[in-house]
Amino acid sequence: MPCLFCSIIAGDIPCYKIYEDEHVFAFLDIGPVSEGHTLVIPKTHAENLQAGSAFDAERLLSAVHQIAPAIMQAVGADGYNLGMNHGECAGQDVMHTHFHIMPRKKDAPRVFTKTHPSKEELVATAEKIREIIQ
Ligand code: AMP
Ligand code: ZN
Repeated sequence: MPCLFCSIIAGDIPCYKIYEDEHVFAFLDIGPVSEGHTLVIPKTHAENLQAGSAFDAERLLSAVHQIAPAIMQAVGADGYNLGMNHGECAGQDVMHTHFHIMPRKKDAPRVFTKTHPSKEELVATAEKIREIIQ
């Protein structure tokens, strides 16, 4: 079966894209724990961070550094959690390296819970973020 995130990069499966460069692709998580929850992935397939190149690891973090402020501004967050589930034992479900950027508001509960926004809400969030990134 083709990799889900490779299919998203190829445009074979739709996504709420917020950023793309030569090496990195970023899009909204469809089960966000907070508004603006974004997945940042390398364009070159690797099952996890350690299976990929150091170059891609650097590009990923560089993209996080670049886009996280725009995400925070777009959704009115005060900070963010940066996460990675590395390996099945750590809760990795999709076997293509990805960082989670999870925006945080000051008084939000400490524990994150998955939410189920509508398609329209996800479209609106992605648009807000893209407007700031561009
Ligand atoms: P992980 O458990 O770290 O592998 O996280 C995988 C994440 O991918 C989960 O937070 C899912 O909500 C998210 N996800 C799964 N399918 C899609 C999809 N088609 N588009 C966007 N996010 C997805
Ligand atoms: Zn892949």
